[in-house]
Amino acid sequence: MTNTQSFQAVNPATGESLPGDFYEATDDQVNEACERAAEAFQVYRKKSGPEKAAFLERIATEIDALGDDLLQRANAETGLPLARLTGERGRTTGQLRLFAEYLREGSWVNARIDTALPDRQPLPRPDLRQMLRPLGPVGIFGASNFPLAFSVAGGDTASALAAGCTIVVKAHPAHPGTSDLVGQAIRQAVAACGLPEGVFSMVHGRGTAVGMAMVQHPEIKAIGFTGSFRGGKAIYDAAARRPEPIPVYAEMGSTNPVFFLPGALKNSTKLAQAYVGSITLGVGQFCTNPGVAIMAPCDEAEAFTQAARQAIGEVAPAPMLTQAIQQTYVKGITQLAGLPGVEVIGMQGGETYAHGTAALLTAKAGTLLQYPELAEEVFGPGSVLVEADSREQMLTIARSLHGHLTATIHGTDDELPDYADLIDILEQKVGRLLINGFPTGVEVGHAMQHGGPYPATTDARSTSVGTNAILRFARPVCYQGFPPALLPDELKDGNPLNIWRLVNGEWTK
Ligand code: NAP
Repeated sequence: MTNTQSFQAVNPATGESLPGDFYEATDDQVNEACERAAEAFQVYRKKSGPEKAAFLERIATEIDALGDDLLQRANAETGLPLARLTGERGRTTGQLRLFAEYLREGSWVNARIDTALPDRQPLPRPDLRQMLRPLGPVGIFGASNFPLAFSVAGGDTASALAAGCTIVVKAHPAHPGTSDLVGQAIRQAVAACGLPEGVFSMVHGRGTAVGMAMVQHPEIKAIGFTGSFRGGKAIYDAAARRPEPIPVYAEMGSTNPVFFLPGALKNSTKLAQAYVGSITLGVGQFCTNPGVAIMAPCDEAEAFTQAARQAIGEVAPAPMLTQAIQQTYVKGITQLAGLPGVEVIGMQGGETYAHGTAALLTAKAGTLLQYPELAEEVFGPGSVLVEADSREQMLTIARSLHGHLTATIHGTDDELPDYADLIDILEQKVGRLLINGFPTGVEVGHAMQHGGPYPATTDARSTSVGTNAILRFARPVCYQGFPPALLPDELKDGNPLNIWRLVNGEWTK
């Protein structure tokens, strides 16, 4: 069946349609992409670490080769500045190359060997060897706010391909042209590496039908998603209702609470500027945006609030990713500003198409406890700042928080040890704890954790950034009593791949 429904990309800075028609995938096309991914999985799952590494590196090379055309198109479709997009392209290709290195090193498969004990009494122990194997075809939703690094060739794609999974990407409708360019780069890498075409497929769609068809397809074995709570939860529920439920790794955002202790607030102007800088970075369109901040009761709190108010007023409106995101932001801030006892600075209204104005909402800490929605994500350049009446109230607020990606404490070396209880509470609420930093800016590395307890994500054990993201798309398989020739190289005697393995309880190489 041919697809007839087409749409165009819109420049969020101007509201103008951009050249190029994109076609909504039909059910048949989604089905075909998933079937091809399943077929290709039978080939790709057997590729060695170095073979998959060469493929990831080739994708990075092909993305680089797109040159400025990619950046120009992404700039027109998202309103994100070229400098930011240049950095994001580096992050995207760097991420692919990092996974390539990780695959060549090879120990990620977590090989474990318990050799046979034929003479053990009362029963002999069989030879048991375990390692991680890929899950199967993965469905990936491109995110709107990172058109490169969390989109078609983003972290979900890099980690799923690294694990040995084939993928079907549902491109985000806010940047379809950028998605097509990156998709083309991946297809070229697939061909150059002699892999089956079904290793990578991409479908377009506006509205939920295309994504849902992918989630419900029996050949899809896991989902990666970054976006709204509403979208992520709907996809999670749909996946759980399938005849064969599958894991959904949905990263749905967070308000990333920041706690300011009295000693840190002494440096009020500089700290307030850094706080506002973090709120407004990228027009606030980061899942790590500090959307709520709690000041310890102290004399400096008023000066900090004034400095933050001044800094927020100096930030010029800038285009958000889409008009819908801007409208949701304005609605969210307006609703919070209407709560009793909440004051708002910024948000004059009347902004041009899709432009977002920074907003700072201030309130008593008691109001935050009374209206928990003040601590919920309003995606955009806004934050809620409160002063606690007492140390105990600050701890009560910390205890009342639901799951977030991050939490931050600003304090001096002298005072931080006195707040071990606060650290203890926050450790149970988030995936990443920061001292004297700001949560925006997520390093891609081995030690990063970008995830957190529900509702920040649907699986607190997982990360969507860093090399541990590969674990989402792999499952352990134990080989019992296998003849050596039939074992994967990772588990063979003599350790031919020279990887770290747990052999009879001892890590060895
Ligand atoms: P979104 O509405 O969650 O959409 C993300 C992707 O999921 C899109 O491809 C969307 O398809 C699809 N989708 C959404 N709901 C679905 C459903 N019920 N079934 C199947 N597919 C579904 O996010 P967005 O459009 O990027 O931005 C909207 C809001 O998401 C923002 O205002 C913000 O609150 C939040 N957001 C959060 C983060 C974060 O990092 N936490 C990042 C980006 C956005 P269609 O667009 O075709 O419907």
